[in-house]
Amino acid sequence: MERATDNAAQTVEAERRVRAAGQRPTRARLQILQSLLDLGQPVSHSEIQEHIQVRWAESIDRVTLYRGLDWLVQHHLTHRITADDRVWRFSAINPEHPSHPHFHCLRCGQVLCLPESQLPAPKLPAEYRVEEIEVVVNGVCPHCQRQD
Ligand SMILES: [Zn+2]
Ligand SMILES: [Zn+2]
Repeated sequence: MERATDNAAQTVEAERRVRAAGQRPTRARLQILQSLLDLGQPVSHSEIQEHIQVRWAESIDRVTLYRGLDWLVQHHLTHRITADDRVWRFSAINPEHPSHPHFHCLRCGQVLCLPESQLPAPKLPAEYRVEEIEVVVNGVCPHCQRQD
C-alpha cells in the first residue's frame, strides 16, 4: 500500500514506472496508475473512474480503463485482487514488495495490501513453477469492530 502524499511527485512516479517497463506512457496509462498511487489502497473500476473524473475533470470510458488496467497488470505495475464479493480491485505495486497477502474485511468489504507480510512458500512437486500466489486474509477491520 502506498500513501497519497504529494500529487506532483506521484505524477512523475507514475511516468517513471511506465517508462521503466520500457513503454510509452500514454495518457490513460498514466491517469490510471496515478489514480492508484493517489488512492493508495485497492480500488474497483468505478472508484478509479470517479477519481479520474475528479482529479482531471475528464471521463475515461470503460473500455479504455479495462485495457489500461490489463496493460498495467501485464507489466507488473499493478496487481489485481479478488475478494469474496467478486469485485475486482486494483492496486499499484510497490516494486519493493511485488507480492504480498491481502486483508479483506468480511463486514464492509474493504481490501488492504499487507506489503510487510511474508507469503508462505508452498512446496511444489518437481518441475512445477509458481506464477503467482494469492493469499487473502478474511477478518474484521478496526472500524467494523467498533460497530459491534
Ligand atoms: Zn470493515
Ligand atoms: Zn496488494
